[in-house]
Amino acid sequence: MSFPQSDPETCDDSAEPPCVERFAAKEATVGELTVRRSLPTRARRMVGPWCFADHMGPATVTTAQGIDVGPHPHMGLHTVTWLLDGEVLHRDSLGSEQMIRPGQLNLMTAGAGVAHSEESTGTYAGVLEGIQLWLAQPDSVRFGDAAFRHHETLPAVDVGQATVTALVGSVAGVEGARTEHGDGVVGADLAVRGPAEIPLAPAHEYGLVVLRGGVRVEGADATPGALWYLGQGRDSISLDRLRIDGAGSSEPARVMLLGGTPFEAQLLMWWNFVGRTWDEITQAVHQWNTHHERFGEVASTLARYTAPEPPVSRTTGRP
Ligand code: MN
Repeated sequence: MSFPQSDPETCDDSAEPPCVERFAAKEATVGELTVRRSLPTRARRMVGPWCFADHMGPATVTTAQGIDVGPHPHMGLHTVTWLLDGEVLHRDSLGSEQMIRPGQLNLMTAGAGVAHSEESTGTYAGVLEGIQLWLAQPDSVRFGDAAFRHHETLPAVDVGQATVTALVGSVAGVEGARTEHGDGVVGADLAVRGPAEIPLAPAHEYGLVVLRGGVRVEGADATPGALWYLGQGRDSISLDRLRIDGAGSSEPARVMLLGGTPFEAQLLMWWNFVGRTWDEITQAVHQWNTHHERFGEVASTLARYTAPEPPVSRTTGRP
């Protein structure tokens, strides 16, 4: 997973902000699940410090087979896991073993290195749906300690006809998990039943990822399968639930609001690693594949993934 560094998007510095621009997600496979990846795409790599967004499912899982992502490493990012349906068991190289259910948040900090697995619970069967996000860490802390935090509940507030749940950072007067980004990041779940005007910070850029149903946002009908980029310069955004014929018309639309201060550094993303240079990436690949202590080991029965080598042309600059 790696993309050219050129940025063809038109909805930030050069365009007249604010605007709404659709960036199509692409399908990928993670473990046994199909996901819609709305970050990064070629045309839009980040929104604030958010650099990765996988909408997984909805899929039907059994007690024996579900997400089943075996041990793999990360560095330079936080993973943010949020479920709409189902249960997932998290294990990591810090020794954490944590079940996550809808309404709860798993926040894992990779720093210099961590490894984790995401597993079937052995007891849950039914629909699994959620989103996993990565939050890039700034240079000041990206080689720091790994950590894992589970939030059993998160603060929520009603704004108009929407319920806003703060996952990370602050929005509409409620604050979720705090990170080193402080007020420079926000991630929130919006359950939209009708018209709502969500307060925003003009200095931040924002995007929406619709998980269920759809919302009307400034004349656009935002539905799943895309990142809806809102740009910077807004002090609020008005949303309304789309009435979609026949499709669970009484259910609220579910939307992730992602935002923050535009990220200061250009990321290099390769497989599960976030870095800045190919030297860093190549070192991480070799260290993971040789069981270097940097990433630790996960007590999982699932198969450990092997990191793919970066293409020689990338690491040397020669074709
Ligand atoms: Mn992971």
